[in-house]
Amino acid sequence: MPRTPRLFVVSGPSGAGKGTLVSLVREQRPDLGLTVSATTRQPRPGEVDGVSYHFLTNEEFSARVERGEFLEWAHVHGNCYGTLKSEVDRNLADGHSVILEIDVQGALNVRKSYPDAVLVFIEPPSMEVLEERLRGRGTEDEQTVRLRMADAAGEMEKACEYDERVVNDDLHQAAAQLMRVLDSHEMN
Ligand code: ADP
Ligand code: 5GP
Repeated sequence: MPRTPRLFVVSGPSGAGKGTLVSLVREQRPDLGLTVSATTRQPRPGEVDGVSYHFLTNEEFSARVERGEFLEWAHVHGNCYGTLKSEVDRNLADGHSVILEIDVQGALNVRKSYPDAVLVFIEPPSMEVLEERLRGRGTEDEQTVRLRMADAAGEMEKACEYDERVVNDDLHQAAAQLMRVLDSHEMN
């Protein structure tokens, strides 16, 4: 049965496991389109411009906002992040579904311009586990971990506005559930 290319938006608190789950799904679904977001945050060691993100200055980011190039953008944990419309439209036109991995405010904004988007909330089994994972990842300093944990409480309250929810407790079960979400919406 032919699949309909869909826009999936995977979101949830930082450290919930969005990146890990989306990588697992991509291994099984190499046909999924790739989109690179833009951000004003500094690259982390190993991150490559144009691959991990388009790393922009505040001025470059604002100019793109002015030109209406973003499908959505948001201030997240002190920096700007945004999805370029061109990246999403190119993939959907080529018949590839797209998974955007973005913050909670941005995800809910996507619906305004793409009402058919499927919003998927990734939640940790508990806030304690979330903090352990965020610290365990070792990519944020103490101040950033605290900021992200403070933001997480408000983000969790938005889960009910999503089309689908996946609790990321056992990684492989959660990845299988996310695969089923994709399948069920592409077969519609
Ligand atoms: P996010 O993209 O939501 O910020 P990550 O995918 O970077 O989160 O995951 C945060 C950390 O938690 C990483 O170190 C990752 O390896 C770990 N992690 C993700 N999912 C699980 C899981 N189900 N069980 C245990 N650790 C996990
Ligand atoms: P990080 O700095 O860890 O790469 O990402 C921080 C947060 O920004 C994560 O919650 C991530 O999902 C979000 N993010 C990444 N790209 C985008 C984007 O294009 N738009 C929005 N709104 N958020 C994004």
